[in-house]
Amino acid sequence: MEKTKRLVEKDAPLKKDDLIVITGAGGFIAGNLALYFAKKGFTNIRAVDKKPLYEWYLHVPGVQNLSLDVSEAGACRRVCEGAVEVYNLAADMGGMGFIERFRVECLRSVLINTHMVEAAWRAGARRYFFSSSACAYNTLLQQDPKVQALKESDAYPAMAERGYGWEKLFSEMVCQEYWEERGLKTAIARFHNVYGAHGTWDGGREKAPAALCRKVIEAMDGGRKQITIWGTGEQTRSFMYIEDCVEGIDKIMHCDELIATPINLGSSEMVSINTLLDKIEKIAGVKLQRKYDLAAPKGVEGRNSDNTFIKQVLKWEPATKLDKGLAATYAWIKEQYLKRKAGERVGIG
Ligand code: NAD
Repeated sequence: MEKTKRLVEKDAPLKKDDLIVITGAGGFIAGNLALYFAKKGFTNIRAVDKKPLYEWYLHVPGVQNLSLDVSEAGACRRVCEGAVEVYNLAADMGGMGFIERFRVECLRSVLINTHMVEAAWRAGARRYFFSSSACAYNTLLQQDPKVQALKESDAYPAMAERGYGWEKLFSEMVCQEYWEERGLKTAIARFHNVYGAHGTWDGGREKAPAALCRKVIEAMDGGRKQITIWGTGEQTRSFMYIEDCVEGIDKIMHCDELIATPINLGSSEMVSINTLLDKIEKIAGVKLQRKYDLAAPKGVEGRNSDNTFIKQVLKWEPATKLDKGLAATYAWIKEQYLKRKAGERVGIG
């Protein structure tokens, strides 16, 4: 991507009562982001999701919660009214089981970003954040479990993940052009697998860490000694803890050097799915017999985040060790599992 020639005007300092809009906030990352900003003392946060409120993972005290579908232009205008900063994290998405099966739904998320960025610009918002994904990277570079970590330039020549990845790549470009042509300061982070509390852990959209935690809990609860893994278990990934993710979003959004510049936001601690399960079994204090479902969706063979660029620009990278983040995640999922078993309503994906 050619470096932008626009002059970056300095923002006035963000005031604690400036309106921050966060979409997708009934879901995992955006819900945690609303909590993060509320804890930082921001008092005017508008959280939006199409899910009914009772299905949201988090209801952050003091935050205005709206149940609206932001794939519609009118809803986006309503949502962005008065916004100083807009964080668009709404997307129809899930783990491999979802994005390999529902490509049309994933592609249709293009409507969300297209309408949201236009509404944010029309509302005079100062900054706009878009949550892209490592799935935007060229899949041909990810065919070996011992993969080279992906650096930002590896998105082009493009051969993104079918459906989901192409939507992200296109929406990134939309954000870049809103800066180039219209002067809206956009930020674009390519998340690499995020995990943690208050996210999807059952129902078909969950990702590997949550799915494996739940399967271990189910096996133990049901007195079974077996667990099924999708693929060979040799496929590799890196996993970023949610607290690093929300901190990274804040840093990227407010860095002038990163305007309209896609950047990796991920951990560089790469593990195989088998190793991920070893770690969860250790936390749970159990050893299960592994069955491998080779016909199940498993995505690319290997993927890791090259953090050279983020370390250079922000002097920071997501650093929470997988063991630590997994222990907290496992404890939360177990709590949800037991609550649901006891008949309580819990948030769903
Ligand atoms: P999530 O599914 O938990 O949250 C997304 C939320 O968006 C959901 O609650 C959903 O109801 C909402 N949504 C979908 N369509 C909507 C619409 N039309 N209007 C309003 N709300 C709508 O997912 P997440 O893990 O929190 O992901 C957040 C963002 O980060 C997404 O853009 C996703 O593509 C991206 N991302 C996530 C990961 C990850 O590992 N979790 C990795 C890469 C990128």
